[in-house]
Amino acid sequence: METMRTAADQAPFYQPVGNEVEIFEAAYRKRLPVMLKGPTGCGKTRFVEYMAHRLRRPLITVACHEDLTSSDLVGRFLLEGAETVWQDGPLTQAVKTGAFCYLDEIVEARTDTTVVIHPLTDHRRHLPLEKRGQEIQAHDDFMLVISYNPGYQTVLKDLKPSTKQRFVALTFDYPPEEIEARIVAHEAGVDAALAGKLVAAARKARNLKDHGLQEVTSTRALVYAGSLMASGVAPLEACQVAIVNPQTDDAELAEALMEIFRAYF
Ligand code: ADP
Repeated sequence: METMRTAADQAPFYQPVGNEVEIFEAAYRKRLPVMLKGPTGCGKTRFVEYMAHRLRRPLITVACHEDLTSSDLVGRFLLEGAETVWQDGPLTQAVKTGAFCYLDEIVEARTDTTVVIHPLTDHRRHLPLEKRGQEIQAHDDFMLVISYNPGYQTVLKDLKPSTKQRFVALTFDYPPEEIEARIVAHEAGVDAALAGKLVAAARKARNLKDHGLQEVTSTRALVYAGSLMASGVAPLEACQVAIVNPQTDDAELAEALMEIFRAYF
């Protein structure tokens, strides 16, 4: 559920699309919490990894899900032999050590989970540890980053509008053609021509969104397809298993997508 990256690790590859790097840095200087809005697989997680590295902060990532409780984030008492000992959760660790805490898809989590971040999002910057009857002040370097996918129906349903407004919101989407091709070439290890074809086909495939596809072809799916091609899988088969199959269970839609990829590969 949680991963930690230290500043000493190698810089993650991130291809900026607009001025998101500068805005994030400005938000960090003022310790404003940041929300990354955008569809799945468009680079939000990679961006946070990159920014944490760039600003030399450790990153603690929590993939939120519907069973995630506030104790999972904040911490809990555990029984150790005859004693109960307190164990900090990932959010508390980040608050104490001045890490970046990235709550991926926060709206998936239960309401009581989202409530614990409220006091961290305003000028108080503190975290209540209710079970311990304590409140801890966030480390000066702590930063809260959340992501959410506006395409899902749960859109911020668990975040109060007043909380929402305390976030600086950066909007992400699949990048423009040339930039996306550069990303796919780099990530998948394929040449520019092949990456260009994948991206061109994906742009056509994304037009099928209005025909009942819940998710469109993501940059991540293109990277997967390219990686399979680089690993020796026949191009069309790579498109089928990395892009089409995961995207739809509907035979007709799958065929419509394959039709597009057949025109390119
Ligand atoms: P999200 O968090 O939005 O679901 P990710 O950040 O995991 O998506 O992106 C999926 C993959 O797409 C990444 O692992 C990376 O390979 C690639 N990617 C997408 N956008 C970028 C970008 N701007 N720079 C570098 N890689 C990117």
